[in-house]
Amino acid sequence: MNLTAESHRIPLSDGNSIPLLGLGTYADPQKTPKGSCLEAVKIAIDAGYRHIDGAFVYFNEHEVGQAIREKIAEGKIKREDIFYCGKLWNTCHPPELVRPTLEKTLKILQLDYVDLYIIELPMAFKPGEALYPKDENGKFIYHETDLCATWEAMEACKDAGLAKSIGVSNFNRRQLEMIMNKPGLKYKPVSNQVECHPYFTQPKLLEFCRQHDIVIVGYSPLGTSRDESWVNVSSPPLLKDPVLNAIGKKYNKTAAQVALRFNIQRGVVVIPKSFNPQRIRENFQIFDFSLTEKEMKEIEALNKNVRYVELLM
Ligand code: NAP
Repeated sequence: MNLTAESHRIPLSDGNSIPLLGLGTYADPQKTPKGSCLEAVKIAIDAGYRHIDGAFVYFNEHEVGQAIREKIAEGKIKREDIFYCGKLWNTCHPPELVRPTLEKTLKILQLDYVDLYIIELPMAFKPGEALYPKDENGKFIYHETDLCATWEAMEACKDAGLAKSIGVSNFNRRQLEMIMNKPGLKYKPVSNQVECHPYFTQPKLLEFCRQHDIVIVGYSPLGTSRDESWVNVSSPPLLKDPVLNAIGKKYNKTAAQVALRFNIQRGVVVIPKSFNPQRIRENFQIFDFSLTEKEMKEIEALNKNVRYVELLM
């Protein structure tokens, strides 16, 4: 794939397209100063990012919305230049909750639509105020829902113009097939956001999604923040990998840039999170070099089939 900074989008099956590089915005709200996300999104837009990945459960969607609106007011961008992905949380799977939940996100963002709305996880929690409902023994309270019915409510959001495209996240092949084989399916998922990087390359899911025109959006493309509260840190740090560093040296690039380039070069969208101005800009500098076929194979061979994000819930 020949990629340049100007043409760094790939088509979606519904006729829209998605920028191959986006800014991830998840940061632990307890450890992150207020306003960090606002500043990061503004710096990212100035650096050339047009895709922002967020979620209601990241508790900073208001900052993302404010950054986008400020950049529009400045005349730097138009709304249609930006691709924002929002997510439907686990407590909101019952079909009657889907549209009100998206409307709540739009109100927080102060935007009229999201570009992509995705079901964040294929399993549901008990609906209610608690986002992580637990019983008296500290166990999560799950909720029986029909993913196909949730999907129909997602389709209605697209029809209402509240989401330009709809997709899923953390779905395996069986769950994708369940949606795609649903009688009366109106729109299939355009994308599936899953963990994807050189230590977890997702060869089988990637092949399946390619066959069905579903774009893989790779989260934790740099190997996560290694926050022990939710990351499996027994898997070694990705960015210390000798192969990634050696290849980077050849191109005067960092291991992070090589890891991101590897994915976009095989058509996987990446959404690295950084709230640091220098690293935000660094992660954008991946359109001015390309990896050889041999280097792509060497990086593919790093796959350990081990997740950093085990999602034990
Ligand atoms: P990531 O993007 O792989 O890594 C983020 C970490 O790398 C941060 O600690 C960041 O620190 C650091 N970093 C960023 N650029 C760097 C560079 N050039 N060199 C060295 N370190 C660098 O991890 P992630 O946040 O887990 O994943 C990215 C995004 O994917 C999330 O923010 C979220 O939007 C999404 N996500 C979705 C799901 C899901 O279930 N759908 C799950 C996980 C994540 P600084 O900020 O200090 O630069």
